[in-house]
Amino acid sequence: MAIMITDECINCGACEPECPNTAIYEGGVEWTWGGGTSLKQVTLEDGSVVDATAKQQPISDEFYYIVTAKCTECNGFHEEPQCAAVCPVDCCVDDPEHRETEAELLGKKAFMHGE
Ligand code: SF4
Ligand code: SF4
Repeated sequence: MAIMITDECINCGACEPECPNTAIYEGGVEWTWGGGTSLKQVTLEDGSVVDATAKQQPISDEFYYIVTAKCTECNGFHEEPQCAAVCPVDCCVDDPEHRETEAELLGKKAFMHGE
């Protein structure tokens, strides 16, 4: 499953540089598909095509947040979620709304990094 950041986040910023997929952004900061990936454009579930450099609305304005679609739980890079490993207040936790198998997570990694 993907990892999520709870409202216990103290906005220390320690997790952001650790993410191999650039799935973590500071609250209020727009995110992109292309940040930290090799994506050029993405076809969404509704069939629309998004330029990977297009800025997307922040998912949180108050706390650091994780873009679920870019989180692989660090599969393909590390043995364990790096954000959870460095977070001083243990607020990077399993997201029960987004449960995925290891194969699915590795598929996301291949999709984003072209390998
Ligand atoms: Fe990034 Fe890994 Fe944390 Fe997911 S679990 S947000 S891929 S550091
Ligand atoms: Fe928030 Fe934890 Fe990330 Fe610090 S490491 S910004 S407390 S989620």
